[in-house]
Amino acid sequence: MKKISIIVPCYNEQESLQLLYQELCKLMKAEPAYAWEILFVNDGSKDETLQVIQALSAQDPSISYVDLSRNYGKETAMLAGFDYAQGDACVIIDADMQDPPSLIPQMIKKWEEGYDDVYARRVDRGKESWLRRKLSMAYYRLLTKSSRIDVLPNVGDFRLLDKRCIEALRTLREQGRYTKGMFCYIGFRKAEITFDRQDRAVGSSKMSYRSLFHLAIEGLMSYTTAPLRMASILGLLVSLISFIYALWILVKTLIWGDPVAGFPTLMVVILFLGGVQLLALGVLGEYVGRIFHESKHRPNYFVQTYYSSKK
Ligand code: UDP
Ligand code: MG
Repeated sequence: MKKISIIVPCYNEQESLQLLYQELCKLMKAEPAYAWEILFVNDGSKDETLQVIQALSAQDPSISYVDLSRNYGKETAMLAGFDYAQGDACVIIDADMQDPPSLIPQMIKKWEEGYDDVYARRVDRGKESWLRRKLSMAYYRLLTKSSRIDVLPNVGDFRLLDKRCIEALRTLREQGRYTKGMFCYIGFRKAEITFDRQDRAVGSSKMSYRSLFHLAIEGLMSYTTAPLRMASILGLLVSLISFIYALWILVKTLIWGDPVAGFPTLMVVILFLGGVQLLALGVLGEYVGRIFHESKHRPNYFVQTYYSSKK
């Protein structure tokens, strides 16, 4: 019997889990041809999430969980899920019911047809703020334009992955994680299904604009090194200001003349070069910073406890 693992990263999701579990129970009943594993990854929740998971796992042997030592963020929580999942295929699903579990049978069908990565593309994004929707679309456009990674717009982490993909993903252990890009990077046969994104069942989004901004930078740059970035921005600003100043000196000299010969040219060149140098240094620093973080070779996460009824 083939086994399917459902990976659920959870951060402060005490209200959602019961609901999700009920839905998954319905699904497991409807698909008795497979053995099921529900793998909760508790990403350092500060509420009763872990207790809820433990209570559920006491009644149902198909539930296992990984309790991470602190909050590492969803990207790392998913990696922990990949590491501990035992299934022949894995489904990654959000705890907040925004990804409908009713889609999973369709995914399994595609998987049985021979696809390795069945992803769900949302046609409607649900009740998100106008700003968030616009920013998200602009970001996808930027990613596609810069074409570092070919990321599909409106495709989240909700997908079914064959064991092959999971094994590939386990080998990608960089600190600066952008899992959406990794799914595309590993390749394999992909299939798409579409759905309407639901609103969050309970609670509020755990991804603030700030965390989304960081994830966005991660996707573009693979890691954030904030002070170095500030150097780049500073360089850019100085260049800009010196350019405006240059124009001003030029116009001034043309109209009124200048008693000290050569002074305008000198100022312009010094200021402009200074700006450009800072800019270049900043860009260089971005890469050095990234090398610094990755070269520590730290483990991606630490585990407080792992529980499974069948190890
Ligand atoms: N999540 C996580 N660690 C975090 C933040 C979020 O494991 O630091 C989980 C969260 O519990 C949920 C999923 O990632 O299952 C998506 O989070 P959320 O719904 O807040 O994000 P959104 O749907 O707004 O993008
Ligand atoms: Mg959500």
